[in-house]
Amino acid sequence: MLKLDFHPAGRHFLQIPGPSPVPDRILRAMSLPTIDHRGPEFGVLGLKVLEGIRKIFKTTQPVVIYPASGTGAWEAALTNTLSPGDAVLMYETGHFATLWKKMAENLGLKPEFLGLPGTEGWRRGVQADRIEARLRADAGHTIKAVCVVHNETSTGVTSDIAAVRRAIDAAGHPALLLVDTISGLASADYRHDEWGVDVTVSGSQKGLMLPPGISFNAVSPKALEASKTAKLPRSFWGWGEIIEMNKQGYWPYTPSTNLLYGLAEAIDMILAEGLENVFARHQRLAGACRAAVTAWGLDIQCADPAVYSPVLTGVMMPEGIDADAVRKLIYEHFDMSLGTGLGKVKGRMFRIGHLGDCNDLTLMATLSGCEMGLRLAGVKLAGSGVVAAMDHLTRHAVKPALGMAA
Ligand SMILES: *Cc1c(COP(=O)(O)O)cnc(C)c1O
Repeated sequence: MLKLDFHPAGRHFLQIPGPSPVPDRILRAMSLPTIDHRGPEFGVLGLKVLEGIRKIFKTTQPVVIYPASGTGAWEAALTNTLSPGDAVLMYETGHFATLWKKMAENLGLKPEFLGLPGTEGWRRGVQADRIEARLRADAGHTIKAVCVVHNETSTGVTSDIAAVRRAIDAAGHPALLLVDTISGLASADYRHDEWGVDVTVSGSQKGLMLPPGISFNAVSPKALEASKTAKLPRSFWGWGEIIEMNKQGYWPYTPSTNLLYGLAEAIDMILAEGLENVFARHQRLAGACRAAVTAWGLDIQCADPAVYSPVLTGVMMPEGIDADAVRKLIYEHFDMSLGTGLGKVKGRMFRIGHLGDCNDLTLMATLSGCEMGLRLAGVKLAGSGVVAAMDHLTRHAVKPALGMAA
């Protein structure tokens, strides 16, 4: 029996790729009193977060904030822009791409799923040339949207969104570009405007370091135009009324006030560190994590070094080892949660999250727990991943922002 009131010594290590650990500073900001969401102070908070979040998406366009998990923002992206029976082109990069496709089917859309056979596509990113070829073949422009996942959280593989944009343009095709960067935002380089994305979907509990519960749609003028004629039923998700009321910092219904306090704090923290520094920190930690996996003699789920995720690393288990049994053992011995293998790769791999509020020593402790756990599970390791990661971090040494600069 699990006893919820039992508190083991030290901190739980929440090293799943979302929800990621929430910094104390954000928890404290969220502990402010819940205020009247129609009162004057709320408008100040609303305008502050709506303005700040655009910087994180790198957009000057509206960003809609929903009191919902990321899945809700997926639904919002589809229902605001598309009509029943519309063909959409999706790309199988992993479990989350598969779930988004299932949602499209549930909503009465006609998704076509590009990808590679078996789990081959679960080891690499979107091949933009295949999207271009498919769109060129669609001379009648029946495909209304291209939907891709930027950071596939089930595998630890990113996709080149700028290349997908170029593919759509090269085909001269008018389809909208919808992108899920639920786990990429504020961890991996992302540029809503520059990459010409029509709707970017994101969520709170990954790179933004917030608890689960709010999610986002960044909306291009073209997507906003499409929403005026799109016929999928929507009410709660409808952009029009929300964007109108957001101009004064308010919502048509009760927003998640305390999560918005947290969001304001998270934006301050990210912008103080500097978005580019945040991305570089994630790249460096990811490099150290991969050095560890390689030194253990294990395979990384992502087979293409050009698209390694800076957010998480998928670790493949040798034949005959159940990845979930290793995870369970690590949880029980070291009070650390690692991500399970999802969908087609369940039991074959586990995922190490290194996103959000993570530094060198967080990662080193995480890798120590993994290495000890792998040994306890009887996995034959080629060498010490911990030593390799320390070596990587010291060879690429940087001073973290400690606020001590002259
Ligand atoms: C977490 C995640 C989702 C699902 O978001 P929820 O908040 O669980 O609804 C979808 N796509 C990706 C890429 C994710 O990482």
